[in-house]
Amino acid sequence: MSAALPALDAVAVVVVRGGELPPGADESAAEAGAAALLVGDGTEGARARLSSARTVWTVEARLPDAGVLAEVLAPLLARVHTVLLPASSDGRDLAPRLAVALDRPLLAGAVSVAGQGAEVLRHDGRQLVELAATGPFVATLLPGVRGAEPADGDPVTYRIEARWPDAPGGTHTLGTVAPEAGDTPLPEASRVLGAGAGLGGGTAVALLAGVGRILGASVGATRAVTDQGLLPHDRQIGTTGVVVDPDLYLAFGISGAAQHVGGLGSPRHVVSVNTDPHCPMTAMADLGIVADAPAVLAELARRLEAPHD
Ligand SMILES: Cc1cc2nc3c(=O)[nH]c(=O)nc-3n(C[C@H](O)[C@H](O)[C@H](O)COP(=O)(O)OP(=O)(O)OC[C@H]3O[C@@H](n4cnc5c(N)ncnc54)[C@H](O)[C@@H]3O)c2cc1C
Repeated sequence: MSAALPALDAVAVVVVRGGELPPGADESAAEAGAAALLVGDGTEGARARLSSARTVWTVEARLPDAGVLAEVLAPLLARVHTVLLPASSDGRDLAPRLAVALDRPLLAGAVSVAGQGAEVLRHDGRQLVELAATGPFVATLLPGVRGAEPADGDPVTYRIEARWPDAPGGTHTLGTVAPEAGDTPLPEASRVLGAGAGLGGGTAVALLAGVGRILGASVGATRAVTDQGLLPHDRQIGTTGVVVDPDLYLAFGISGAAQHVGGLGSPRHVVSVNTDPHCPMTAMADLGIVADAPAVLAELARRLEAPHD
C-alpha cells in the first residue's frame, strides 16, 4: 500500500461491496467536506454513484477481514483529522478497529461532526449530546438524518494500489452472506412495512413479517406496538427508536405521531392504510388507503402467496 492521503480536516471512509454504496455513504462524504475514500470491489461504479464528493480516493481490492483492513488503512489516514464512516454494517464493524489502529477515540452514532468533536444521540435518541475530542478522532454517522447535497461536476479521483497482508491469527473470510431482504437491518432497508396500533394483535404482526419476506421489506413498528411486546424494541421507528430512510414505507394502522415520523427520514414513497382519512400518516402519504388495515394486509398476503390468481 502506498500514497497516504494528505493532511485533511476530514474524510469519509466507505466500504464498497460489489459496486454498491452502503446507506449513509453520501451523507458521510458531505459531512466530511466532500472527501471520500472508497475501498472494496467495484469502487469505480460506486464512485460514479457517489454524488456528494468532490475528491475521491479509491482502493480497488477484494475486502479482507475488518481487522486487516483497519491495519492497512490506518497509515493512509494518519494525517486526516476526522475519519468518518457511515454507521452501516461495514462502517460499524470497521470504525472501532480503525480507532484502535489509529490510537484515537471513537465517537459512535453521530448526527453531525466538527473538528472539535461530534453531536451524538444518547438515551434512546431522547438526548443530543456534544462530545468534545482533544485531537483527531474516528466517528460513525447515522444514516438518514443529515441528508446530502450533490457536489458540482465529476470528483477528482486518485487510485491507490492495495496489497493486503495475511490475516493475523490465520483468519480468512470464506464469503459474505447477504441477509434475506426481509431481515435487512431497518436503517439499511430500502422497503419497510410499519406496524401500528391499528393493525391489531400478534397474528396480523406475524402476517406482516411474512408479507415483508415476500416483498423484500423489513418490518418496523410504532412504540404503541413495541410497548405491547408485539415486536422487539429494536424494531421501533422514531425519535426513541431507529431512523430509517427507505424508498418505500408502507404504514399499516399508524397515526403518524411526530415521534414516529421523526424517524422516517425522507422516504421516496409512502403508503398509509388507515380507517382515518385525516390522520397525519395518510396526509403525508403518496397513496392513502382508507380501509381496515388487518383486512388489507390479509388480502395482500393472499394475493402475494397465490401468484396464479
Ligand atoms: C418521549 C416520547 C417518545 C416517543 N418515541 C416514539 C418513537 O420512537 N416511535 C413511535 O412510533 N412512537 C413514539 N412515541 C409515541 C408516539 O407519540 C405515538 O403514541 C405512537 O407513535 C402512536 O403509535 P400508533 O400510530 O401505532 O398508534 P395510534 O396513535 O393509537 O394510532 C393508531 C392508528 O390506527 C388507526 N386505526 C385504528 N383501527 C384501525 C383499523 N382497523 N385499520 C386501519 N387503521 C386503524 C387509527 O385511525 C390511528 O390512526 C413516543 C412518545 C413519547 C412521549
